[in-house]
Amino acid sequence: MLLEKKKQKFDEITKDFLIDTDGLRKIMVLLEQAFDKGLAMETASSASVLMLPTYVQSIPDGTEQGEFLALDLGGTNFRIFFVKIINREMKVKSTTCCVPNDVMKATGEELFDYIAKCIAEFMKEHGLTKSKSLPLGFTFSFACKQDGLASARLIAWTKGFKASGVENEDVAELLRSACQRRGDINVDVVAVLNDTTATLMASAFERNSCQIAVIVGTGTNACYMEKLEKCGKLRKGIDFEEGTFDEMCINTEWGSFGDHGELDWLRTDFDQQVDEATINPGHQLFLKMTSGMYLGETVRAVLERLTREGVLFGGQTEGISKHGLFLTKYISEIESEFIENDGTFPKTLQILKVMGVEEVSQLDCIRVATICTLISTRAAHLIAAATATIIKRMGKPFVSIGVDGSVYRFHPTFSRLLDEKISELIDKNLKYELLLSIDGSGRGAALVAAVAMRMNKKFHC
Ligand code: BGC
Ligand code: MG
Repeated sequence: MLLEKKKQKFDEITKDFLIDTDGLRKIMVLLEQAFDKGLAMETASSASVLMLPTYVQSIPDGTEQGEFLALDLGGTNFRIFFVKIINREMKVKSTTCCVPNDVMKATGEELFDYIAKCIAEFMKEHGLTKSKSLPLGFTFSFACKQDGLASARLIAWTKGFKASGVENEDVAELLRSACQRRGDINVDVVAVLNDTTATLMASAFERNSCQIAVIVGTGTNACYMEKLEKCGKLRKGIDFEEGTFDEMCINTEWGSFGDHGELDWLRTDFDQQVDEATINPGHQLFLKMTSGMYLGETVRAVLERLTREGVLFGGQTEGISKHGLFLTKYISEIESEFIENDGTFPKTLQILKVMGVEEVSQLDCIRVATICTLISTRAAHLIAAATATIIKRMGKPFVSIGVDGSVYRFHPTFSRLLDEKISELIDKNLKYELLLSIDGSGRGAALVAAVAMRMNKKFHC
């Protein structure tokens, strides 16, 4: 194929990944409508964006004290933390355990037995003896229906988890039972929270202007402090006490924006193809365009198509056709090499070689990097539009935003692109800052556990 023809084909196939500012503004309008729908009593049950109440009604006030265990399940790793909070300071010890693929897909009992076993090993290692019962905060990064701090019913598994008999069940109870079955660990599950809530609490502990948290990792999501008057579905005296606090942290679950067709005008053939091959087709469509679990596969789908069309790799489709083989971390590695560009691409060549792609020209490397850039930039801009929607909705003169997740942390340009686009999309009188939050899942879970202990009742203050 002639060079000019290849370029034409390349542009034609990749052009749909560009979203201009008008497109992003349209997303903001649609997302805001979805937020309202998720919060109103009459429409909540049929909304695409769930807007889940967390029963967390204020950010930490600095008086939180004590020793806590914290768990973080539902991202790249399963982590266990021992957190000591004294005089506004947190001391954290932690360990990372991998959750084997077969355990993710086993029965719920097996999954929670595995978790309890890891806790037992951790406690033993750190001399946290059986005699003292430790309060535990459980960061469980999946959509859950809560009716208080200490219980959470899983709505649906995502991110590759599939353990049976957990959906619709209270995960706090499943964890308690697994700990009891062992008999050698003494923990008190006092709070279950989403990773966004944990990140918000941990960031707010450092900076009390923090009112929003965003995760862009294996999955994506955000939470923010919403005025109770805007939460029509929350019932006075049942979901909140009158006259105490006027806000509640709402876990938006924005990943499922688009599930009611809101993003159909924007989704490409590749997004559709990626979605169809997942275990939950038609669900979490916004998340599938923006988060680590799917970005690599989206790049691969484009590369495969371009190869089939004769634009890349001398038309050799073998290596590039294998589903799931292009990892999201490759995007970061390839783009990093491209940014440092000295005209050679050893890392890119090595990645493609591992995949079994042999016939690679220098121009191929440049095109691969360009596709990675297009797809990660689209993700950053979509997350920017969604974050800007919350900033605008809150309308505070200044707000800090705690951000975490592997894509945000490790991609070379994601954080900058996100920041630049948010500034462009919001009114100039609204100011904000993005704060990187590391280990927020662990620290935030300990903070919410502290508050739960202090209040020892359903309502969180
Ligand atoms: C889950 C959210 C979570 C997000 C980030 C999504 O798949 O539904 O609850 O906050 O991933 O971990
Ligand atoms: Mg995480």
